[in-house]
This record gives sequence, structure tokens and C-alpha cells, in this order.
Amino acid sequence: MAVESNISNQTSQLRVGLGNDIHRLVEGRKLILGGVEIPFEKGLLGHSDADSLTHAICDALLGAASLGDIGTHFSDRDPRWKGADSLILLRHVCELLHDQGWSVVNIDATIMAERPKMMPHLPAMKLKLSATIGIDPLAISLKAKTNEGLDAVGRGEAIAAQAIALLMCDSLRG
Ligand code: MG
Repeated sequence: MAVESNISNQTSQLRVGLGNDIHRLVEGRKLILGGVEIPFEKGLLGHSDADSLTHAICDALLGAASLGDIGTHFSDRDPRWKGADSLILLRHVCELLHDQGWSVVNIDATIMAERPKMMPHLPAMKLKLSATIGIDPLAISLKAKTNEGLDAVGRGEAIAAQAIALLMCDSLRG
């Protein structure tokens, strides 16, 4: 979708954006987070691969650029995105940002999952995400925590993620 750049009429050349996502854990689905398949008896339910971490990052990036959210660009009624690898959605988002003259400075994200343990998989997620976005892996911070047995995440019914992203206008690069 072609979108006219909205940078020129903005005063700030640095922009921050926030993203949140949650998907339900069900049997018979693969568990994919940050583009990495994690061995587990359940997976996340959704129209795409339901990668809540990557979706939160997409929303943070789109939010920073004031370009709506993931649902604006990738409808869950569009058959093109049925079962889609969410890294492809992330790549589309990054292309949109670049078309508008934005570069990604850094991303910080937290996965909220009671089980399985996320820590061993974070380095692989970081590599997949940084390669997809086209930034240094050091510019991506990934963290994981449980919800201490509280709420749907804490009961192991869902996996959620939060992300924050900083964008820089390409003209700042000189
Ligand atoms: Mg989602």
C-alpha cells in the first residue's frame, strides 16, 4: 500500500512507538516467537503464525511512524496472511518505514510466558529479528518473564509480548 511520507510536517526526527500483543496457547499449533520455532506441547492460535513477539514489534515500529497498526496493513480476513510467517509481515513493515524515510535505531521487547523457558531461545530470536529488520543484533534487546501464576498468561493459557522501538529520520544520518 502506497503511503505518502508524513515526516516533513513533523517537528521531531526521532520517534518512539509502543506495541503489545497476546495470543492464546492451544494444542495442535506450532509455537513460534521471534521467528523461532520452540519445542512445546502447545502453540499460539491466530490467522498468521500468531508470533506475538514479532507482532508487538511490528506495532511498535508502525506506531513510531504513525502508520496505524498491524491490523491496518495485514487484515486477519486476508487469505494472503493465513498461516503467514510473521517475519514476512515485519519485513513489509520495515519496507514501509524505509519508504517513508525512517530507520530503526533500537528495539526493546519483553515476552510474557509462564512456560516454556524462553531464555535459551532469545539469542536465535534476536538473530532472526535483526536480519529481518536489517539492524545490528546489539540494537535489539529481548527479555522474558513469567506472570507469577496470575491472569491468562500466568495460567499458561496465552503468551504476550510488549515492545518499544525508536526510529530516526534518515536525514539525521547526514
Ligand atoms: Mg497478533
